Amino acid sequence: MTALVDASLLADVQRFGAADVSACFSCGNCTAICPLSTNDATFPRRLIRYAQVGMKDALLSSKELWTCYYCGECSDTCPTQADPGGFMAAARRYAIASYDRTHLARTMYTSPVLGSVIAVLLAAFFAVFMYASHGPQNAASLALFQFIPEELIHNTGVAVMILVFLAGLAGVATMARGIARREQITVRDVVGSRAGLKRSTQALWVALGIESLGQRRYRVDCETVQEAQPWYRRRWFIHAATMWGFLGLLTATILDYGLALLGIKATGTPVPIWYPVRLLGTVAGIALIYGTSLLILDRLRGANRSARDSTAADWMLLALLWVTGASGFLIELALYLPQPPLWGYWVFLFHVSVAMELVLLAPFMKFAHAVYRPVALFFYALAEHRGTEGS
Ligand code: SF4
Ligand code: SF4
Repeated sequence: MTALVDASLLADVQRFGAADVSACFSCGNCTAICPLSTNDATFPRRLIRYAQVGMKDALLSSKELWTCYYCGECSDTCPTQADPGGFMAAARRYAIASYDRTHLARTMYTSPVLGSVIAVLLAAFFAVFMYASHGPQNAASLALFQFIPEELIHNTGVAVMILVFLAGLAGVATMARGIARREQITVRDVVGSRAGLKRSTQALWVALGIESLGQRRYRVDCETVQEAQPWYRRRWFIHAATMWGFLGLLTATILDYGLALLGIKATGTPVPIWYPVRLLGTVAGIALIYGTSLLILDRLRGANRSARDSTAADWMLLALLWVTGASGFLIELALYLPQPPLWGYWVFLFHVSVAMELVLLAPFMKFAHAVYRPVALFFYALAEHRGTEGS
C-alpha cells in the first residue's frame, strides 16, 4: 500500500484540541500504562507517531481511535506532558471531521462561534417551520397533535432521517474503505461465501453486542481506573445510561408511530403511565437525564481529564441531549396534570424542534462515534477472525 505523507497532519489534528505532542520522544510509558494496549495495539504512542510523520491514512483507519475511552492514565504518566489521552480524543474528532464530506463537522469542532450560530439558527428554523402550520390550542385537554399536526412532524422527521442516513452512510463508506484497504478485506471476506457470512455474524456480535452495547472494554478493561467510584458514578455506567436512554427514547418514538400505522393506537391518544411504550419512554428518559446530568456536572467540576478536555461542540451535544430529555418530561407532566396547562403546547414545540436539530446534527458531532466505533470494530473483528482461521 502506498502511503501519502501529509506534512500538515499534526498541525491539523491540533486544531481539534490536541496538546503539543511534538514533545513526545517515544519513551513508551503511555503504551505500558494503557489498560487497552496489547502487543497488536501499541497505542497511543503509535498514533502520535503517525501524526508526527504525516501518515494520515494510517491514523484515520486505526482501530485504536475507537477503542480508547479517554481514561487519561497515559496523560498522567507522560514525562513530557504531551497529553497522549488528549491527543487520542482530538484524533477522534479529527477522524469524524475527515470522514464528513460536507465540512460541517469540521466547522462545529474548529469554529465554536459559527457552530453555535448554526445550531441556534437550525433550532429556530424548525420551530418557525412547525409553528407556521400550527392549529388551535385546546384549553380543555392538551391536544398536542392538533397544535402541531402529526403528519407535519412525521414528514419532517422522515426528511431529517434521510439526510442523516445519507451523511452517515457517506462517512461510514469513507472509513470502511480505509480500513478495508489497510486490512485487505474484500467483499468476499464479508458476504461472499458461507464462511464470510459466519465471520461477519461473529464480528457483528463482537463489535455491536459485546463492545458497543455491552461496553466490555470500558466496563472491564478500564475498571482499575474507575474502581474508586461506586458503580452508579463510574464513567462506563454514566456513558451506558446516556446511550441506552437515547436508544430507548428512539425505540419508543418508532414504536409509537408503528402502533399508529397498525391502527392499534393513534399518536397522541391519552394512555396511562404504565402503557408499555410510555413506560419505555419514561424509563429511557430517566436514564438519559441521569447520564447527561452527571456528564455535565463532571465537566463543570473538571472531575477527570476527559471532562476537562471538552470542546464547545461536546458541550452543545450534551446540552441538546439534556434539553430534549427534560422537555420530554415537562410534556409528560403537562399531560398528566388535572388542569391542562397551556405552556405544554410551547414546550412541545420546543421539544420537537430541538429533537429534530439533535438528530440532524448527530453525524457532525461526537454523537457520530456511536456509529463509527461499531463499524470500525466490526471490520477489525472480521480481520481477526479471518487471521485465526488462516493460522
Ligand atoms: S509517555 Fe509521553 S513521551 Fe512517552 S511515548 Fe507516550 S506521549 Fe510520548
Ligand atoms: S486515555 Fe486511557 S484508554 Fe486512551 S490511550 Fe490513554 S490510557 Fe489508553
